[in-house]
Amino acid sequence: MARFDFDLFVIGAGSGGVRASRMSAALGARVAVAEERYLGGTCVNVGCIPKKLLTYAAHYADDFEDAAAYGWSVGERSFDWATLIANKDREIARLNTVYGKLLDDAGVQRIDARARITGPNSIEAGGKTYTFEHLLIATGGRPRMPEIPGIELAISSNEAFHLKELPRRVLVVGGGYIAVEFAGIFAGLGARVTQAHRGELFLRGFDDDIRRALCKEMEKRGIEVRFKKLMSRIERAGAALRTTFTDGSSIDSDQVLVAIGRAPNVTGLGLETIGVQVTPGGAIAVDDYSRSSRPCVYAIGDVTDRLNLTPVAIHEAMCFAKSVFGKTPTKIDHADVPSAVFSQPPIGAVGLTEAAARERCGELDVYLTSFKPLRHTLTGRDERTTMKLVVQRSTQRVVGAHMLGADAGEILQGVAIAVKMGATKAQFDATVGIHPTAAEEFVTMRTALARE
Ligand code: FAD
Ligand code: NDP
Repeated sequence: MARFDFDLFVIGAGSGGVRASRMSAALGARVAVAEERYLGGTCVNVGCIPKKLLTYAAHYADDFEDAAAYGWSVGERSFDWATLIANKDREIARLNTVYGKLLDDAGVQRIDARARITGPNSIEAGGKTYTFEHLLIATGGRPRMPEIPGIELAISSNEAFHLKELPRRVLVVGGGYIAVEFAGIFAGLGARVTQAHRGELFLRGFDDDIRRALCKEMEKRGIEVRFKKLMSRIERAGAALRTTFTDGSSIDSDQVLVAIGRAPNVTGLGLETIGVQVTPGGAIAVDDYSRSSRPCVYAIGDVTDRLNLTPVAIHEAMCFAKSVFGKTPTKIDHADVPSAVFSQPPIGAVGLTEAAARERCGELDVYLTSFKPLRHTLTGRDERTTMKLVVQRSTQRVVGAHMLGADAGEILQGVAIAVKMGATKAQFDATVGIHPTAAEEFVTMRTALARE
């Protein structure tokens, strides 16, 4: 008779939890996973997937406009938000089913309930107590909202996916991934958008040339950007919402979307019951193997607040399963993780920004290009693509690659392999380009900037 009900109990069936459950089960573990809300977690339900679908929708406005230069006449155009949301919801429901089947097929026991730790090897979920040998916490994060008067009038990204109608005027507060992406979505769909950020430029952590170039592109698309703005209150002003900032200025809008970061989901989990340590920011503290301060208790994904991206949560899940049930201790590798911001146009990036490389790599050769994409030579659209390579002078290794322009995410995935392998600039140059593409610029940039 087994000592415990399960070899592994996973809390949270999001990107990390589902992968860890399936892979551990495939390695022979008896696994249960508790999910309180929706299978697939944030990414599938209120994150990457629905966001990308809305981004596609937003792009049609440009495509219809640009079509004329290619000889197409597009009839009268109209956009129906309700249709988009209903179709998006249908796809999400399909994905929820797929995730359920993946778990069932892997032999993982699903528990549709909130779970709470009750002891060193026990958990309560849906009114029942279960015992486990190993516990994996994969509870993700939730939107952080500032404590200011009237904040209940604002929405987070969670609600943005379920609005009944497209707001006419939207104020987007924040300067991170979510704020920039939603500003592009709402503007593309026809709303008047203002984005207000507390800093001097949004997307801190991305390369400065790319950030500045995106800001210009967003302004060209009619998004009003306001910097050095910190919200102090929101109130109703007739039919509008009035958001006031600490400098006394205010903006009226029909909807206020606040996206100022996410907080790890640890409330009510019972971590204190078994003494699992958390960081000052409230995330579960873990080592390179995702081990918490408590033996046999692990945590992965956004709840550990390392790199909050779906492929990273999945990578952490695989390393966990290999280490614990595959007899192969496997450290997580957070180096050179590529990412994309699905702004309009999008950003793709891997490795170090120029500023970070100056601190870590000494002297650099920096290659930067900005050009009008071929597609827009006919349309006349005033949109520029920007690409950049950051090269460590002493080793000639490409330590950073950055792009703002159509398909940047698709292009950077390939470039990321080269950067991860430690390719040199000479190896980039020795690669023959694919013509005519924007991507070929990554192998044809020859003159370094005279920047020191
Ligand atoms: P989650 O996917 O959040 O899953 C956690 C699960 O745990 C949830 O389903 C939750 O209901 C459940 N849970 C929590 N507490 C309990 C409990 N006590 N009992 C039972 N269940 C519980 N990343 C990208 O890589 N690319 C993108 O384009 C991208 N876009 C994004 C867009 C938005 C708007 C947002 C918000 C995020 C986006 N992300 C993106 C980030 C990505 O969604 C997360 O990094 C990823 O989902 C983290 O996975 P996770 O497994 O850690 O947590
Ligand atoms: P981010 O951490 O990306 O950005 C938070 C933004 O809010 C920053 O601009 C920050 O400014 C600002 N901010 C923080 N605190 C305050 C405050 N108190 N008042 C005003 N502004 C504040 O968070 P997001 O919510 O945009 O996204 C959460 C995470 O989800 C991302 O970091 C990313 O990991 C993931 N994600 C990934 C996506 C992708 O891969 N495409 C898409 C969406 C989300 P400052 O720079 O000054 O600190």
